[in-house]
Amino acid sequence: MVIRVLGSAAGGGFPQWNCGCPNCRGVRAGTLRAAARTQESVALSADRKRWFLLNASPEIRQQIEAFPPLHPQGPRHSPIAAILLTNGDLDHCLGLLSLRESHPLVVYATERVSRGFIEDNVLYRTLQRSPEQVTWRALKPGREEALAGVDGAPSGLSVEPVAAPGKPPIHLEGLRPPDAEDNVGLRIRETATGRVLAYFSGAGGLSPAVHEALEGADCVFFDGTFWSSDELPALGLGEKRAEQMGHVPIGGAGGSLAALAGLATPRRIFIHINNTNPLLREDSPERAAARAGGWDVAHDGMEVSL
Ligand SMILES: [Zn+2]
Ligand SMILES: [Zn+2]
Repeated sequence: MVIRVLGSAAGGGFPQWNCGCPNCRGVRAGTLRAAARTQESVALSADRKRWFLLNASPEIRQQIEAFPPLHPQGPRHSPIAAILLTNGDLDHCLGLLSLRESHPLVVYATERVSRGFIEDNVLYRTLQRSPEQVTWRALKPGREEALAGVDGAPSGLSVEPVAAPGKPPIHLEGLRPPDAEDNVGLRIRETATGRVLAYFSGAGGLSPAVHEALEGADCVFFDGTFWSSDELPALGLGEKRAEQMGHVPIGGAGGSLAALAGLATPRRIFIHINNTNPLLREDSPERAAARAGGWDVAHDGMEVSL
């Protein structure tokens, strides 16, 4: 299985259009040892022909153009067999609306996430120009199923979603109660080799189910949104702590770096990095601490072969 990081930043990207935090200012000015990043999305494939996208970021068009294996092979064609959504946050699904050129799409999501995107959303009509334009396939935590595109041909990959602590997307808060299927991680298994990618780009905590899903994986991508719980308030950028936004911080006593120190997984990568996170600076002590703990930091264009 090959895993290609198309985008590695959290919502807003790096730099974020309306952000003048030290990181965003520094990357614009070229005074930081840090690379700009688009919003999180990953492409993976067992055969380098059929590709599956994990999340559809608002920057999907640019991300497809930047990775030639995702370019069409005919007058109307896409190597993208299907898209899997981990939750309904706009940085994870807004890109679907950009794929509106009457192309048949297969989208895997929990029922909560698909309904959150479809219901009361007049813009969704752009993906309903014909009845067969979008095929939704329901992800059910605990149920493993083969991944396939519109033609149903085997991809050599299967997926098992795992409910992860999280919350509904901001635009649905207050409209419906939180649900265990608002946010999932994905265990993607390659049939031929048995190798497993555990992909948890958003996790509000390390529940026993999340721990179990990470254990035994050959490669882990994990929520790297915030280094510290009070990262935004400390910069004067809002009131909310990381956990209130559905993200366990990396650093600190309750952080993922400490909690996952015993993980045997050989390849461990933080992704979905917020633009405020000191981890983005290659010469920061936080980056050194992550490296010492055996963690890499995802960047756009990174490729991992499993
Ligand atoms: Zn996000
Ligand atoms: Zn910023």
